[in-house]
Amino acid sequence: ARTHHAFTAEVSKNGELQHEESCRNTRHIELSLPEGITYKEGDHLGVLPVNPDSLVERVLSRFRLNGEDYVKLTGDPGKAVHLPAEKPVKLRELISHYAEFQEPATRSQIRALAAHTVCPPHVIELEKLLEDDIYKTEILGKRITMLELTEKYLACEIPFEKFLLLLPALKARYYSISSSPLHKKGEASITVSVVRADAWSGNGEYKGIASNYLAERSEGDKIACFISTPKSNFQLPEQTGTPIVMVGPGTGIAPFRGFIQTRRSLKESGETLGAAHLFFGCRNPEHDFLYQEELEKAEQEGLVTLHTAFSRHSGSEKVYVQHRLAENADIILPLLKDTGRLYICGDGSKMAPDVEQTLIECYMYFYQTTEEEASAWLESMEKDGRYAKDVWAG
Ligand code: FAD
Repeated sequence: ARTHHAFTAEVSKNGELQHEESCRNTRHIELSLPEGITYKEGDHLGVLPVNPDSLVERVLSRFRLNGEDYVKLTGDPGKAVHLPAEKPVKLRELISHYAEFQEPATRSQIRALAAHTVCPPHVIELEKLLEDDIYKTEILGKRITMLELTEKYLACEIPFEKFLLLLPALKARYYSISSSPLHKKGEASITVSVVRADAWSGNGEYKGIASNYLAERSEGDKIACFISTPKSNFQLPEQTGTPIVMVGPGTGIAPFRGFIQTRRSLKESGETLGAAHLFFGCRNPEHDFLYQEELEKAEQEGLVTLHTAFSRHSGSEKVYVQHRLAENADIILPLLKDTGRLYICGDGSKMAPDVEQTLIECYMYFYQTTEEEASAWLESMEKDGRYAKDVWAG
């Protein structure tokens, strides 16, 4: 927490954004920030999560430990500088706050487990997992963790402290702030898609650490977090008249909600606003049209032009944001060719590359250029700070 200049924020609201018919969860979480903490729309909130009790209990039970006992870590920590050294710490706290237990086992972790295993057939099984293909399919593909291996191979006698030293630090998770600092002073909100599905290992349910930690917070609960400004210039243009094009399906809507709130404040204070187009996509408007009412109201107020794409709307063809962009290329491209700014937020593995490719194809068609020229245009927009991405792997 110290390395991130973290502070404590209080949860003031935690509500569900998906409709009842949906089988997924997306939480809208509002936080009261301590005095003096400020942010800009487009910034991220870094969250320092806590491992759930169920995971802590599994670790305690596997190593036959009492969570209420205190331990003092001494000696050379090696790479484990994230662990609290030379001071007594409760075992339960050590397990819940300091280590990441759900990452797939690394080869060196598996080697260490094999070295501490007293049953020769199990040593052979563990060593087999190190073979290239098997490691890729059985460990990485199924995301089998070191904890799961120790639970399976009970003859592994690795001491708890060695096990702990081999684990990575519990990582901060980043969330795009979905509010404007001008909307409610001292408050910030985030929009969190909850990671929960049948585990790829085949063993029960997989629950993402931070998204479930956040989803389970109640009003008044405190969380450790910090503000982080992305290097990608993901900020509103300084000139309020500059046109903007925002592409944010799913939770990618988050920063644009903040942008729209800021535009409302600017408009109220008499500023002239440039055109703003928002391309939002989801599966089905009856399930996961996040912030639907707010966005439609903003459109009525003239703060944004909304273009929606639904990929699983009964009876209709799958429509994604890039399809809507292509349909509106004659409006969007002239805005972008001039002074306009482009923003893409959300899934970086498929959506963002698909949107970029669509823009390149539209540019080629619209301005009769080669693919190289169209790609160079998009690259130059990025270089000039007129195109910014806030994307992550889903
Ligand atoms: P983790 O514990 O980190 O687990 C996720 C891992 O589990 C992934 O590697 C995934 O591949 C794997 N996994 C997924 N399903 C399964 C399964 N069934 N079985 C086994 N493994 C599985 N998220 C938002 O919701 N809203 C945002 O606004 C947002 N903004 C972001 C901005 C940035 C710059 C970045 C980098 C990320 C952002 N994210 C956002 C993603 C967010 O930071 C977290 O990565 C996300 O919430 C998952 O974290 P977690 O701790 O819940 O899951």
